[in-house]
Amino acid sequence: MTGHLKLEACNLERTPFWPDDFSRPADLPVVSELPSDVDVAVVGGGYTGLSAARTLAQSGASVAVLERETIGWGASSRNGGITGCGLKAGMPTVIRRYGEALAREFWQASLDALDLIRELVDEEGVDCDFRQQGDLCVAYKPSHYEEFKARAAWHKKHLDHELQLIPPETLQEEIGSPAYFGGIVDPHGAGLHPARLVFGLAAVAARYGAQLVEHVTVRFVNRTSSGFEVHTTRGVLKAGEVIATTNGYTDGAIPGLRPGVIPVGSYSIVTEPLSPELQAQISPRGRVFWDSKWFLNYFRLTPDGRLLWGGRNNLSTHLDLDASCRTLRAQMVRAFPQLGDVAVTHTWSGRLGLTFDLMPHIGRLDGVYYALGFGGHGLHMALYTGREVALLLSGKKSRSPFAEIRHPRYFFYRHHPWFLPLVVQYYRLRDYLS
Ligand SMILES: Cc1cc2nc3c(=O)[nH]c(=O)nc-3n(C[C@H](O)[C@H](O)[C@H](O)COP(=O)(O)OP(=O)(O)OC[C@H]3O[C@@H](n4cnc5c(N)ncnc54)[C@H](O)[C@@H]3O)c2cc1C
Repeated sequence: MTGHLKLEACNLERTPFWPDDFSRPADLPVVSELPSDVDVAVVGGGYTGLSAARTLAQSGASVAVLERETIGWGASSRNGGITGCGLKAGMPTVIRRYGEALAREFWQASLDALDLIRELVDEEGVDCDFRQQGDLCVAYKPSHYEEFKARAAWHKKHLDHELQLIPPETLQEEIGSPAYFGGIVDPHGAGLHPARLVFGLAAVAARYGAQLVEHVTVRFVNRTSSGFEVHTTRGVLKAGEVIATTNGYTDGAIPGLRPGVIPVGSYSIVTEPLSPELQAQISPRGRVFWDSKWFLNYFRLTPDGRLLWGGRNNLSTHLDLDASCRTLRAQMVRAFPQLGDVAVTHTWSGRLGLTFDLMPHIGRLDGVYYALGFGGHGLHMALYTGREVALLLSGKKSRSPFAEIRHPRYFFYRHHPWFLPLVVQYYRLRDYLS
């Protein structure tokens, strides 16, 4: 009942919190005209596209970033801002599937991806509240803590990577919640401000000469003898190469791309700013959090001291935002009863891009390069694969593990992910049985 009252009492925004907190700088140099001819056209103005544009423009190529809405409008300004090492597909799975050598490359890529964020902060001056104080995964059930013990031993043995087990008795030193059964800390985990990152990155790409074009939808692309004609809602652009970085918002502009990426909804809320006492109680060591369910929740304090609470709900991209707010709020109060009287100010959603093997992929379709498929691990990996695809395209790198593995597509999925409700049932059952 309290949740309903609070929802109705406050002036609930149904838009993402981050760009509300830090709106697109008025001096971001977006160009008003579609250029006529560029070396590389990048479709999509999120982390992946902007990272590719930065790398290409830095090496002297003429680049246009074509964004259907506004720069950063997609998942890149809607996410939880939680990052760390590793990929959505856990490393034991990655080793089993691809073998030790390739798996080590994927692992190293995820560490290099975190270095890339640091490079943007330290060398390019992107001020995005990056704080690397570790992430804590909390055990939703006692059996999950037993799995944490095996996980820590596995990471030490195979990757020489230290994870710190937090037994139930000392969990209160890490998180002010009575709801969990132990935890595991990765000191590489970090939190940042997604909108500050995407707008900062856009400014860096523009500084190197990339042209940022907003409100332009790429409708289709024709291959020509000298490159491509990119047909958009604002005219035709000639480009030597094209990179598609549309991830969870992929439409039909590049045929064949959509069957390789499944759009999945992710939903978030934030509270009003919390008192310093509540903040210190919730995250005494400044960790960012998620839990151990398949249908996980991720949560953290924002730089201005709110609690952000997110989750997948039922994977649909079209849930009602008020209903989602009620579900997420109830979960949040279960974890943090001390937030029972705290108002929620924003409820929003965005789209993840999932692949069938839960791996990011770099590839080429009819000559068009692409990088996508980050799941909820997109922040560092989108930046990384954006740079990687640019280095491959320009010949500065000759190979990437993300371009070497098969990108699965199946006959039963072309445009509509009809099977998602079945996937939801399957993973809910696994959560129940675990
Ligand atoms: C709610 C939510 C929470 C998340 N939390 C986390 C998290 O805490 N940590 C983490 O690591 N990851 C998280 N993620 C995932 C992460 O945000 C994404 O993986 C990442 O932002 C993907 O970046 P991108 O540039 O590939 O795609 P996007 O940022 O989604 O950009 C794609 C862009 O392409 C544009 N576009 C599409 N089609 C066309 C067209 N035809 N013409 C022109 N433009 C087009 C879209 O308008 C869109 O802006 C979260 C995602 C969501 C939605």
